[in-house]
Amino acid sequence: MSENVSVADVIAVLDDAYPPRLAESWDAVGLVCGDPQEPARRILVCVDVTDDVVEAAGAGGYGLIVAHHPLLLRGVESVAADTPKGRIVHRLIRGGIALYTAHTNADKADPGVSDALAETLGLRDVTPIDPQPQRPVDKWVVMVPEGNAEQVSEAMFAAGAGAIGDYRDCAWSVVGTGQFEAIDGASPAIGQIGERTRVDEARVEMVAERGLRTRVLAALRGAHPYEEPAFDVLEQAALPSALGLGRVGVLPEPVTVGEFAARAAVVLRTPWGVRATGPADRRIETVAVCGGAGDSLLAAVARLGVDAYLTGDLRHHPVDEALRAGGPVLIDAGHWATEFPWCRQAADLIAGATGSPVDCHDDPTDPFTVHATG
Ligand SMILES: [Zn+2]
Repeated sequence: MSENVSVADVIAVLDDAYPPRLAESWDAVGLVCGDPQEPARRILVCVDVTDDVVEAAGAGGYGLIVAHHPLLLRGVESVAADTPKGRIVHRLIRGGIALYTAHTNADKADPGVSDALAETLGLRDVTPIDPQPQRPVDKWVVMVPEGNAEQVSEAMFAAGAGAIGDYRDCAWSVVGTGQFEAIDGASPAIGQIGERTRVDEARVEMVAERGLRTRVLAALRGAHPYEEPAFDVLEQAALPSALGLGRVGVLPEPVTVGEFAARAAVVLRTPWGVRATGPADRRIETVAVCGGAGDSLLAAVARLGVDAYLTGDLRHHPVDEALRAGGPVLIDAGHWATEFPWCRQAADLIAGATGSPVDCHDDPTDPFTVHATG
């Protein structure tokens, strides 16, 4: 069936795993060029869309490149073939090769870029360094005559309330006594004007996403028999989600910084090695990681109290300041090497969902290719 898989089919799989809404506002993700209706043929996953990657895609009969880094991120006035990026766009279009990008949306997804990195390093019990809050939720509490509880609940369910994960129509209720006295001008459903009335009422509780508040309120009022229904809308506290940047986990057993760095250099296939702040014989067990340039998370990592933080692109001053502040051991394994494990994750995802042949561009696209030690 794989010959019938279109570029759009693969995009649907990727957009589901790495929702574009998770991307940062400055980012540029999704289809860059290519026709969604064309067959995907073979798919090539890479970190950077370099001339070498496009060359390999053309030679290998690939119809779609899935890249982590956007080819076109900042404003572009020209894709003329004599510009570095325009040359790539021309080669892709001439070769009938589509290009799709999953960048910060893949960083924050679950599983995402840093999950692949954490897994490669053998970390367990992994959670985000900087978890995004779950979508805001209200708790609705409605008092309704016992015999009308079901109709009110059903109306609120139909408006989207009562959904928790893979469950729908969730509610909780208990019966108590409500009381009221209608005054002049009222037209009470139960009781008389000027008369104290007591009613067996169900207290029905359910959650609803905050964005549904207007719809749920209309459903409640529409289905409730009372002129003035009694209800509470409580804003639930924000809970951390499984989405967000970076991951923190635990090694199966403590190792020294030197051992961990040496192992990272091998399993991450970093083209120019791994550097760490040390001391080399310090034992570490809790480790935070972030694929790519992770120095924006240095403060968040320090608050976690982990033993070590592995990322890429660490610079002199942020590292020096983090160490002076008593932060963890810092380990720089390079930008490409910390993001490449995601290529395998995305390739497995696409192959599993579509049956299409998928490969990773294994040759490092790290711009540093020469490494000398004094
Ligand atoms: Zn990156």
